[in-house]
Amino acid sequence: PTPTPTPVHEVLLADPRGFCAGVDRAIEIVERALAKYGRPIYVRHEIVHNTHVVNDLKARGAIFIEDLAEVPAGATLVFSAHGVSRAVQQEAEQRGFRIFDATCPLVSKVHVEVAKLHQEGYEFIMIGHKGHPEVEGTMGQLDAGIHLVEDLADVARVQPRQSERLALVTQTTLSVDDAAEIAAAVRARFPTLREPKQQDICYATQNRQDAVKLLSPLVDAVVVVGSPSSSNTNRLRELAQRLGVPAYMVEDESELRDHWFANAARVGVTAGASAPERLVQGVLQRLKALGAVSVRSLDGARETLKFPLPKGLKGD
Ligand code: SF4
Repeated sequence: PTPTPTPVHEVLLADPRGFCAGVDRAIEIVERALAKYGRPIYVRHEIVHNTHVVNDLKARGAIFIEDLAEVPAGATLVFSAHGVSRAVQQEAEQRGFRIFDATCPLVSKVHVEVAKLHQEGYEFIMIGHKGHPEVEGTMGQLDAGIHLVEDLADVARVQPRQSERLALVTQTTLSVDDAAEIAAAVRARFPTLREPKQQDICYATQNRQDAVKLLSPLVDAVVVVGSPSSSNTNRLRELAQRLGVPAYMVEDESELRDHWFANAARVGVTAGASAPERLVQGVLQRLKALGAVSVRSLDGARETLKFPLPKGLKGD
């Protein structure tokens, strides 16, 4: 006889999960710009990589564009949390837009470091995902001299012009473990490599991955709420999977499939840094309908960081 499936009994919530300080700030910048200047507000790239956040803001008057050619003269323009290249920044300034920069301050910190070390004659190895807007923005801080490596094979191949003055930078939302392995290979190949005092991977990425490491051994399946374009969200799903737990990424509760939980008495739930908490609550409702009688949050790092808004959007 086929064993009767165990219904979902308990849900464990990862802590922390969901919005980080950079995402909070970026969304608030668009909201305040809409309130102050009215619609439309142009936003270069998805303000944060979440479909629900973007659709909400669209409905309220934000227009998302990839190319500044689509922005009319005199418009108000917001740069997304991922940051932009110097070329984009200069073009926007030259065209005279009213600009609000929602680049996460932790990404700006990397930009500042690149500019500073470039002045001192450094070339860079950047660990990141090709094509991600943050990588394009950081690499675009210089005309040349930043070499992107995505994996160990790239590290073996990379050819800087010199190796005496070489510095490491990374995307902020990488897998902490993969980045450490790749950084070790870069260091082995270039022993004089200069590394950031504090890693470039941000506190939110680190804390959400730590929380998934705590959660995964306790559950039979993991649901990660977030959008496929979100780097940190993908890393959370991958991490749970690597820890041996079936893990699924969903935009919202409508994407949940009952058969994922056929033998999952305990289900873990987390959310990427760009996913609103209300979507997590929707997932919890569905899991309760599948039989979950208890929802318990694990204890994780306390996050109190808050970034100031740009001048011109502070106050009420
Ligand atoms: Fe900033 Fe990290 Fe949040 Fe990205 S994930 S917006 S770098 S705090």
